[in-house]
Amino acid sequence: MHDVSLRIVTVGLVLVAWFSCLALTQAADVPAQSAPRHASDSPHWAYDGEEGMDHWGMLSHGYMACETGSHQSPIDITMPSEDRAPERLQFHYRKTDIQAMYNGHSIQVKVSPGNELHVNERIYRLMQFHFHEPSEHHIEGKEFPFEIHLVHRDRVGHIVVLSLLADLGAGHPVVSDIWASLPMHAGESVLSRQLDLSTLIPDNLHHFAYHGSLTTPPCTEGVHWIVMKNKISITQAQRDRFVALVGHNARAVQPIHDRRVLDE
Ligand SMILES: [Zn+2]
Repeated sequence: MHDVSLRIVTVGLVLVAWFSCLALTQAADVPAQSAPRHASDSPHWAYDGEEGMDHWGMLSHGYMACETGSHQSPIDITMPSEDRAPERLQFHYRKTDIQAMYNGHSIQVKVSPGNELHVNERIYRLMQFHFHEPSEHHIEGKEFPFEIHLVHRDRVGHIVVLSLLADLGAGHPVVSDIWASLPMHAGESVLSRQLDLSTLIPDNLHHFAYHGSLTTPPCTEGVHWIVMKNKISITQAQRDRFVALVGHNARAVQPIHDRRVLDE
């Protein structure tokens, strides 16, 4: 009996290690097509404890930017400056096939090609979106219950992340559809039916814009952030379900240093 339980524990540990590696290559903010990293370059990280956000920069040389970067995300958006030439956003989102996965850090939703965000004349393709609880970005010191990050990339790898802050209220149809068949375990994928992602985008496109980073290791900088002013809403039950599965997954706000936040 003892041998059998030992074997079960061993198999369990191997599975946990495997899923952790899987989670690393699918880190929440890293675009789906980024090159796979060797496990030793990207050790496991968490939000709390010894591998928590205060220690990310010390976990690996590859995570140095988390510690030493001067343009990190998220931030508390205060005193934005009026942009004299506001950027023009055009969303070309459509009904699309999605695949939701619990990557150990968030629920990440991979989307089929065909959804684009045009920023002025530049074209970015939507790669994936994922969720944070509570919000990572704050506005005038205020945290929100939930935040969605839609990660876009252009042909040469420039990243634009669109942030949608969420209050509690009625459930958003896109969130409700994904929550109806959430993956239950790390590494598990669930195929859902087609979703119309254009319903996520508010009619009013007023937003804040600034230069920041991925909010998860390796905290790579050079990310163009667009934080929409209009909020969406999710239900308390949806939020509770997410926390029961994933836990809290918001990085603390980072110093702004010399950056300007533009009010567009
Ligand atoms: Zn994110």
